[in-house]
Amino acid sequence: IPLERFRNFCIVAHVDHGKSTLSDRLLELTGTIEKGNNKQILDKLDVERERGITVKAQTCTMLYKHKGQDYLFNLVDTPGHVDFRAEVMSSFRSSDSAILLVDASQGVQAQTVANFFLAFAQGLQLIPVLNKIDLPSSDPERALDQMKTHFEIDPESAVSVSAKTGHNVDCILPAVIEQTTPPTGSSEKPLKMLLVDSWYDTYKGVILLVRIFDGVLKPGDNIYSFGTKKKYQIQEVGIMYPLETSTRSLRAGQIGYCYPGMKNVSDAKIGDSFTTVGMEDEVEACEGFEEPKPMVFVGAYPADQGDFNRLDDSIRQLVTNDRSVTLEKESSQALGQGWRMGFLGTLHASVFQDRLRQEHGGALIITAPTVPYMLRYADGREVIISNPAEFPDGEGHHTARPDRLEPYVLATITLPEEYLGKVIELCESNRGVQEELTFWTSQQVILKYKLPLAQLVSDFFGKLKGISKGYASLDYEDAGYEKSDIVRLQLLVNKEPVDAICQVMHRSMTQYAGKQWVSKFKEFVQRELFEVVIQAAVGNKIVARETVKAVRKDVTAKLYGGDRTRRMKLLEKQKDGRKKLQSIGRVTIEQKSFQGFLSKT
Ligand code: GDP
Ligand code: MG
Repeated sequence: IPLERFRNFCIVAHVDHGKSTLSDRLLELTGTIEKGNNKQILDKLDVERERGITVKAQTCTMLYKHKGQDYLFNLVDTPGHVDFRAEVMSSFRSSDSAILLVDASQGVQAQTVANFFLAFAQGLQLIPVLNKIDLPSSDPERALDQMKTHFEIDPESAVSVSAKTGHNVDCILPAVIEQTTPPTGSSEKPLKMLLVDSWYDTYKGVILLVRIFDGVLKPGDNIYSFGTKKKYQIQEVGIMYPLETSTRSLRAGQIGYCYPGMKNVSDAKIGDSFTTVGMEDEVEACEGFEEPKPMVFVGAYPADQGDFNRLDDSIRQLVTNDRSVTLEKESSQALGQGWRMGFLGTLHASVFQDRLRQEHGGALIITAPTVPYMLRYADGREVIISNPAEFPDGEGHHTARPDRLEPYVLATITLPEEYLGKVIELCESNRGVQEELTFWTSQQVILKYKLPLAQLVSDFFGKLKGISKGYASLDYEDAGYEKSDIVRLQLLVNKEPVDAICQVMHRSMTQYAGKQWVSKFKEFVQRELFEVVIQAAVGNKIVARETVKAVRKDVTAKLYGGDRTRRMKLLEKQKDGRKKLQSIGRVTIEQKSFQGFLSKT
């Protein structure tokens, strides 16, 4: 099939608008998969299927006859979630066009807006498709109107379908052929390819999904990575049809897989470019490669330290399959040895936590998520701190005190107008700064807020869904670090800091969090013969305090009715005794209490 009859496209959609269902229909229509075998072939991982979201992008090649000629399509699936921005971008870069899929009953939503602008900026040719027109609540006119006013899309070019019933789906590929141009590039030029996705196969090792822009890739070729400067020899190449099907070569314009004999998944950097060894000075790498950084951190500890080695093995295994998770060992006086894991965003973290819980149940204690903070020194040096224990304590009136910064995101929220008041309130109470407010149809509003990422990780999304009865949708992008009054809140028991219980947060949160901490921790402290004081402090300043009263042995019981002075004396004595105990006694808090406290916060 000549290059003019290639089309590489992806589907841009808000979550649940029917991307997976439509992909399945297209695969059936082209005979790539059997009809009825619609297990949403592009959503490979179990967790995804469970949560109904696509986390890893999967691509598929399809063959199609149109007006007597054979066409070759590559459908690049894009992850449906905002945390996977790097993967979304590399799907876009590997495609020449995109289907802009909108649920006609819901209209344009936050992710549609965010992804539209990303795809548009990439220069993708867009084909509007309205889905779910079988639903009585669908309103294609309104959806088209939104697309016309905000995306300047011609309603004439739109295709209306029902991915569920298959109605009109056969009009989509002809529209792709007619409304979009084939890939450019030349098989005669030196190799230039983009790494779109990668995964790990127990038998074959790392597998790369690549888009060939120029040149030809075949087994035996030696390739060079611009990102890591490492070299590999290709063992096999092929197309996803729908699973790995080997071919003799991949040429310019194609999307397919290869086995580069790569040992570590971490060397497969999404968005990286490759060329043939020796051509690295001739060929220019694809633009826009950025290594994703973990933005949400979670600590995990074995409930029973004896389990450490076993859990360590299996956590490493899980991480091998998701190269975007970072893993470090961490130890805490209270909880023993454990791990600190970094994730791309809040959903990414919660998907992974679900997997851990699924596999290890009660065997793991998982701590509340935190975000990385930054210290900027007078000399311009910047240090990122992702472990609260390393955040400078106290208010320290040193002149060299560094500036403290926290990560922000720019959130795009779409919602029906009737919830506007409540949503603004939610954003404001989460230290948000309004950037934009657009009324774009009679009922829909687009709201843009700059929000601290730390606020987003504490169930902002759940609250947003709650107050808008599920109608508000959210997407966000990185907005960099900004100066902020952040401090470390520390739990103290009888004046001793408890190392496992400290967290970096905005000063305005410390009062509230401190009160919660001390009252919660109180539940886990056994009464002792002496008084136990639980405090939450920012530096030297105590923001909350609770006392667990001593168990009072009733030394006077026997003296009931006895003379009063004798009784007083005994009580005095007891007080002294208690004092002694208190000063020498250190509270021993069982590990179970820490676990209870930390898994509850
Ligand atoms: P994705 O998140 O974009 O991949 O969406 P899915 O393909 O998983 O679809 C989300 C839900 O919408 C599923 O319950 C589908 O069965 C349903 N759905 C998809 N397309 C249609 C359609 O054309 N009509 C109706 N009524 N439901 C649909
Ligand atoms: Mg899906």
